[in-house]
Amino acid sequence: MGIIVQKFGGTSVANLDCMRKVQAKVEKALASGHKVMAVLSAMSGETNRLLALAKEWSSSPDPAEMDSLVSTGEQASTALFTMLLKDSGIKARSILSHQAQINTDSQFGRARILNIDKENLLKLFETYDVLVVAGFQGVNEDGRITTLGRGGSDTSAVALAVAVDAELCEIYTDVDGVYTTDPNIVTKAKRIPKITYDEMLELASMGAKVLQTRSVEFAKKYNMTVHVLSTFVESPGTLVTQEDESMEAVLVSGIAYDKDQVRVTILDVYDKPGIASSLFAPLADAGVVVDMIIQNTSRDGHKTDMTFTVPRGDLEKTMSILDGIKETLGGGEVLYDEDVAKVSAIGVGMRTHSGVASTMFTALHNEGINILMISTSEIKVTCLIEEKYTELAMRTLHDAFELEKDGIRC
Ligand code: ADP
Ligand code: ASP
Ligand code: MG
Repeated sequence: MGIIVQKFGGTSVANLDCMRKVQAKVEKALASGHKVMAVLSAMSGETNRLLALAKEWSSSPDPAEMDSLVSTGEQASTALFTMLLKDSGIKARSILSHQAQINTDSQFGRARILNIDKENLLKLFETYDVLVVAGFQGVNEDGRITTLGRGGSDTSAVALAVAVDAELCEIYTDVDGVYTTDPNIVTKAKRIPKITYDEMLELASMGAKVLQTRSVEFAKKYNMTVHVLSTFVESPGTLVTQEDESMEAVLVSGIAYDKDQVRVTILDVYDKPGIASSLFAPLADAGVVVDMIIQNTSRDGHKTDMTFTVPRGDLEKTMSILDGIKETLGGGEVLYDEDVAKVSAIGVGMRTHSGVASTMFTALHNEGINILMISTSEIKVTCLIEEKYTELAMRTLHDAFELEKDGIRC
């Protein structure tokens, strides 16, 4: 009998009413003759509440204890939901990461899944029709609970779908699919019926939190089609899948934003070989993901400035690392600016067509939005701007690339 994996996010399990809607989705999958693996997030707001509690208790919470704490949100939602199913006579049980053997490395707070015990899960399906698995959490080799980063339940779901060779992997959330941009910010945003793994990867990594980036990496690696759907409205949703010819026809398919960024500048850095590595190697070793980087040409042939962006949550770590290596780099001052945001235009059509960057720069210029930094990849152009202009920039770019009208054809 085939297995369907269904993941339900925080808003989908926020309260009893919502959980009844989730139950209906599970029952529909059961009625189609499948076993169901329901992967749940914590109830909406719970993870934030737990994170805030930890900050209240400790100025630098122990990472292992932090994961032990924040993973409890999913323990509660899975148990509550299973009670509902059992009351309706469904053979179900809840399962935590150590019971499912979702094995991860030991990077608390951002752990990566190494493997999942498939046989154990298939054996449980001999007894149960529905396994309600706690998303977001894993277990390391010492048996300690880890978590997979914010939005990590998406990754749990895709990894579990791959592990048990599921027929379908459905991600249920509070919007009915992936849109041309965040529909909660740009009302004209349109649902994208089908999107490639690569575009979704760029959208997610540039801030579209509808899917966690790592979940898309998993889906792409194992060619698992992911179906994004709404728990609350009937809709065909979005298929995240392999590229086919029709999908290359649009120049830009989505606009993403990310306000979770800080721009860091180190003044008077020596302009000589080895400096970039002595700056970025320690940051990489500490797990800080540096994104945009600019090094200016040196003013006097000896010294220059280096600017880069890091996630807001890594600012403290970044500053303390820079403090330790400042003298080696040139002894200059370190400045940072938290009032910035990244806006990105993404589309596989860019591989074969030019002009996206200039359209983007012109559109931002027409609104008087200053571009602080630029970076590009094969299918993406990103501009760093002042945070206060984020919404305006998104609306402007959505119009410039005619996304309301199905986008500019290549
Ligand atoms: P869940 O709790 O179900 O995991 P999330 O809040 O993590 O849901 O993700 C869904 C949210 O992602 C939406 O409510 C929406 O505001 C946001 N979002 C950002 N970009 C997009 C996009 N391009 N398409 C759809 N939703 C998006
Ligand atoms: N509860 C976790 C979070 O809020 C994981 C998830 O919802 O995917 O980030
Ligand atoms: Mg999410």
